[in-house]
Amino acid sequence: MRCPFCGNIDTQVKDSRPAEDHVAIRRRRFCPACGGRFTTYERVQLRDLVVIKSSGRREDFDRDKLERSIRIALQKRPVEPERIDQMISGIVRRLESMGETDIPSKSIGEIVMESLARIDTVAYVRFASVYKNFQAADDFDKFVSELRPDVAPDEG
Ligand SMILES: [Zn+2]
Repeated sequence: MRCPFCGNIDTQVKDSRPAEDHVAIRRRRFCPACGGRFTTYERVQLRDLVVIKSSGRREDFDRDKLERSIRIALQKRPVEPERIDQMISGIVRRLESMGETDIPSKSIGEIVMESLARIDTVAYVRFASVYKNFQAADDFDKFVSELRPDVAPDEG
């Protein structure tokens, strides 16, 4: 990080700590050339999140796809829409605050399963059973389409 006072690019990090409820990392920096001190904040930007498939293929993170798969798993379950929205936002926030822009698809699946398990067991089982195939298929679209038949319209 270039020193804002003298332009020296060889500055040192003296201290790093989580900030803003772990959404950012605050770094105190020191410039050995001029003695200047300054602070930087490091944040994950959602648009830059990249999903790393188990095959190693990279794909931009798509919140809509995530939301679709969760809504399908929760179809016809007695869970308030507001609760679902909160859960999805919570998952996205967790992904954003992981501190990495590259996120293995496996980690996303695990976070989703963890979150579903907390609000609805049936939805969790639906998701988890398809998730196994998903890992083999390594394709989110296929995952979503495979999830659908598990949610019979006449269920309940
Ligand atoms: Zn300097």
